[in-house]
Amino acid sequence: MSRKLDLSHSLQQRAETFFPGGVNSPVRAFRAVGGEPPMIASGKGARMIDVDGNSYLDYVLSWGPLMLGHCAPEVVAAVAEANAKGTSFGASTPAEADLAALVVEAFPSIEKLRFVSSGTEATMSAIRLARAATNRKYIVKFEGCYHGHSDALLVKAGSGVATFGIPGSAGVPEEFVKFTLALPYNNVPALEEAFAKFKDQIACVIIEPVVGNMGCVPPRPGYLQAVRELTQREGTLLILDEVMTGFRVSFGGAQELYNIKPDLTTLGKVIGGGLPVGAYGGSATLMDQISPLGPVYQAGTLSGNPLAMAAGIAMLKTLGENRKMIYPALNVMAAKLVAGILDAAKSAGVPLVANQVGSMFTWFFADHEVFDWDTAAPCDTALFGRYHRGMLDRGIWLPPSQFEAAFLSTAHTAADIDLTIAAAREVFASLK
Ligand SMILES: *Cc1c(COP(=O)(O)O)cnc(C)c1O
Repeated sequence: MSRKLDLSHSLQQRAETFFPGGVNSPVRAFRAVGGEPPMIASGKGARMIDVDGNSYLDYVLSWGPLMLGHCAPEVVAAVAEANAKGTSFGASTPAEADLAALVVEAFPSIEKLRFVSSGTEATMSAIRLARAATNRKYIVKFEGCYHGHSDALLVKAGSGVATFGIPGSAGVPEEFVKFTLALPYNNVPALEEAFAKFKDQIACVIIEPVVGNMGCVPPRPGYLQAVRELTQREGTLLILDEVMTGFRVSFGGAQELYNIKPDLTTLGKVIGGGLPVGAYGGSATLMDQISPLGPVYQAGTLSGNPLAMAAGIAMLKTLGENRKMIYPALNVMAAKLVAGILDAAKSAGVPLVANQVGSMFTWFFADHEVFDWDTAAPCDTALFGRYHRGMLDRGIWLPPSQFEAAFLSTAHTAADIDLTIAAAREVFASLK
């Protein structure tokens, strides 16, 4: 069952001389699961090929963006066409408004937006805007939610309600996160308590409407509605961080799925079609506070980049035109995969539970419901690591961490699902 990884191995060693851990984003290093990350040579449809020629059925899909799989012909053609005209001008091009029109049509809560180059920039800028618009300092985030790596959002607070933030990374001074309150997800009383304690001081609540970054954790019925009502009552802006969920759980994101109208939305991943794009947007009144119209400064040399816009347009057009077919089909296929793996685990006596929203899902090595960070954290990560390595050996590429969501694309087939379940049966049997 062992793959040959000689070339990957030597290229990884070379990479380690240049990059910390050999990678340009930490989770790619496979530290959470053990084993060595293969170096990827190419991708096509639902599969990636490594430099040694091994093939993998891909359930990570660049951490979400590739709704149409690798090298979707529409995206490849659009990028090639844009590329021939020039890669960047530092001046506006028509494609920016073309992509914006598609975003605004899909997200009625967004009247105006600004493109940036990553999800991190989108959330960081949205928070700056929220603080300016409310003239308040505190922000609320939720434990287990990830909003990119800016200082104020890298907070991993303890389980205490409305405790002052403690930095989740070296190099972030306490002073920089003292206005960040981290609360448990899916917990309305904790939010009420924070509002009582910090009356008229909370600028915004930022939330993943379906969490992807502690593994897939859906909002409980009524939770998002309660968050919306409380924020409205308190004059606090609600930022739905839909960097992962936008155009993923539904064409109009989680806000369409759960019928929630936020004040600001952050986007990324799918809107770039696999190229670096992020966005934040909301009402025209709010967005007009951004420079050059307003006092909130935010800029980007490569923002609205023509190649990235072209990829995003091709992606959103294809998804939009086929939305009635694509989203229900992905949902059904994901449900079949999730159920099949759960069944395989059950037959083998391996404790496993799962969460799924559309084509976003996670299997947790636990025997209890996972609905927040405190219930996600005790999962058996060692067992997950063995499962991950076993699946990788059988050509199935899963997220290399228990606390990440897996995804489907339109390129995945029913046969791929069957093959994955069969592989899981073998791996579960070997875990005993
Ligand atoms: C991926 C992600 C981000 C960060 O986006 P980057 O493009 O990696 O900076 C922010 N929020 C959520 C919900 C994400 O999933």
